[in-house]
Amino acid sequence: MYRIVADIPALKHHCDTLARAPERYRPTQCPHCGLGHPWQHGHYTRKADRTTSGQENPVPIPRYFCRGCGHTCSRLPSCIAPRRWYGWALQQMVLLLLWAGLSLYAISSLPTLLGTTPPCRSTCRRWGRWLQDRAADFGFHLRSAFPDWGRVLGWPDFWVAALRQQSLSAIMTWLDHHAVSIP
Ligand SMILES: [Zn+2]
Repeated sequence: MYRIVADIPALKHHCDTLARAPERYRPTQCPHCGLGHPWQHGHYTRKADRTTSGQENPVPIPRYFCRGCGHTCSRLPSCIAPRRWYGWALQQMVLLLLWAGLSLYAISSLPTLLGTTPPCRSTCRRWGRWLQDRAADFGFHLRSAFPDWGRVLGWPDFWVAALRQQSLSAIMTWLDHHAVSIP
């Protein structure tokens, strides 16, 4: 939990922040044992820019080492989704198009989507099911914290309303910081 660093909306912003203010990424404590101040322990690189030019690849992801339990952990900027090939912004766009009534085929056939080739039908379908399966759990936490959002009930209307208030990236970062498992 608390793997996602808030308010880093784009990969370019991530690279700049990592260079200029790396302390923003450091976790206050080890997620395994709770000991404070894990040490920066280099980084690994990840291909995260799916645009046709892919200018930001590869993207460094900072890693931290706990001297108490020996575990390492890493921290992701809020624009990158854990264990996903594509970022949150593209997932949000695909979900909104699905809910607006576009077919999986229509979405995957678009020439481009946010500067990248749209994901295939099975990926779009998986994202829709992923959120639908977790809608009750995520919705429970979000409605408790943001009672105005709860006035709109039902699937997917609640999410359409929620995404007018905050981006999917911001919502997932909030859930991550409130101990809700994301992937
Ligand atoms: Zn530890």
